[in-house]
Amino acid sequence: MSLSKIFAGRKKECEVWKYFEHIASNNTSKCLVEDDKGKECGAVMSGKNPSNLKKHIQSHHAAAFRELAASEESRVAGKRKASGDDAAKPTKCGNQTIGQCLARKVVFWESTSQEHVRRQEDLVSAIVDTGYPTTMVNNAKIRAFCSSLDPKFKLPGRTCIT
Ligand SMILES: [Zn+2]
Repeated sequence: MSLSKIFAGRKKECEVWKYFEHIASNNTSKCLVEDDKGKECGAVMSGKNPSNLKKHIQSHHAAAFRELAASEESRVAGKRKASGDDAAKPTKCGNQTIGQCLARKVVFWESTSQEHVRRQEDLVSAIVDTGYPTTMVNNAKIRAFCSSLDPKFKLPGRTCIT
């Protein structure tokens, strides 16, 4: 959260630099806003405090200020959208993502549940009965087989069984 806040804040400050040029040598900021005739304002402010610069734009360049405010707003809105977008938007992947998410989410039987214990006992007795090595539970194909039989059964690892 705090990270994205910092990020958003930084981006916001950047907007003002579309209208200013910072001159590092004497730590001043020159206004680059052009008037109707394309003449650069050229006002020089000391420092590079974005709120100072913004104030200059606000009082001297109404049109540019509106633009600046609008682009800042859309950035913030875009940010907000980007995070909540996919879940909220009904079009495209919105609902689908939730559906897919639910479908993909496999809930395993609790390892203490009857369901799990029953399956595990069957598995152990199958291993004991067949004499197959207990390492077979670590076999990817066996695991895939069990998972397709019952996706909710989390196959215990070999160490669990022995
Ligand atoms: Zn200016």
